[in-house]
Amino acid sequence: PYDMLIVGGGPAGAAAAIYAARKGIRTGLVADRFGGQTNDTLGIENLISVAHTEGPALAKELESLVRAHEVEVMTGQMAAQLIPAAPGGLAEVRLASGATLKARTVVLSPGARWRSMNVPGEAEYRNKGVAYCPHCDGPLFKGKRVAVIGGGNSGVEAAIDLAGITAHVTLIEFDPKLRADEVLQAKLRSLPNVSIIASAQTTEVFGDGARVVGLAYKDRTTGAVHRLELEGIFVQIGLVPNSEWLKGAVKLTGRGEIEVDARQETSAYGVFAAGDATTTPFKQIVIAMGDGAKAALSAFDCLMRAPAP
Ligand code: FAD
Repeated sequence: PYDMLIVGGGPAGAAAAIYAARKGIRTGLVADRFGGQTNDTLGIENLISVAHTEGPALAKELESLVRAHEVEVMTGQMAAQLIPAAPGGLAEVRLASGATLKARTVVLSPGARWRSMNVPGEAEYRNKGVAYCPHCDGPLFKGKRVAVIGGGNSGVEAAIDLAGITAHVTLIEFDPKLRADEVLQAKLRSLPNVSIIASAQTTEVFGDGARVVGLAYKDRTTGAVHRLELEGIFVQIGLVPNSEWLKGAVKLTGRGEIEVDARQETSAYGVFAAGDATTTPFKQIVIAMGDGAKAALSAFDCLMRAPAP
């Protein structure tokens, strides 16, 4: 069995694997693919100490760093079930391939995926004007016109943030009312370069072949379709944790986030979690890496204290 088995090969999983291997314990890492969401990212300029990198380059770097340590890496594999253990026992991770891996401790770092609008043009212009992360990509739209899709807390926060950088922000909400906290809505309404369109459904993203040039939305009250000219679209309709397979094994929030405490411990003995799949606020690479390190150190602590098998 492994002393520590890590599920997920994104920034959180890679950090956990390196911290575990450096303790000289038997470490395994199982992942669908290395790099996680960074594979879908263009420029990264907020990974502290790295002035600029590109997502796929970071994903390669994470993989080679992990492989430079004593870690048994299993890629192209999906974990399908977790059966936690009692103290001193072995947890089981069942793979979709049918194999079962056993481990004394487990670090879960399956990440998350952005919910997309699923409208024509969105996938085509992803990273060419269609963006999902205002902290990451906001500065690329300095002085430009953007829309934020979604009037929940993350959409309204994104709109406030972007209003300080861009020329103009249009917030588009599907429902008749914004769902964000009242204080955020009040702040948003106080800004001079923001317009809010409610009861509107985005129906298409337009581009010139290279970049986004606009979007179409349907007024849900009248049925009329309108077009907005702009350079950027931030989709803020939710981040979905890749935790469906963990239901019943560890405590999840209503939104599917794995509940962790300050030591990254989950509700199950010997099971820790890190990164975008957890309740930790602010889904960012440095945060996922820091929490991955913390999860591995907490798991190591658990190993030292565990009763002999
Ligand atoms: P992920 O990166 O999602 O990795 C999850 C890993 O788990 C993957 O390897 C996946 O294959 C694997 N996996 C999932 N489920 C299973 C399973 N059941 N079995 C096996 N393996 C599984 N953050 C920044 O700090 N700066 C940026 O500039 C930035 N830009 C971004 C741009 C975009 C377009 C996106 C989508 C995100 C961006 N982010 C950025 C956010 C950042 O990518 C995430 O916060 C970070 O990748 C989270 O790391 P993670 O390890 O928790 O999860």
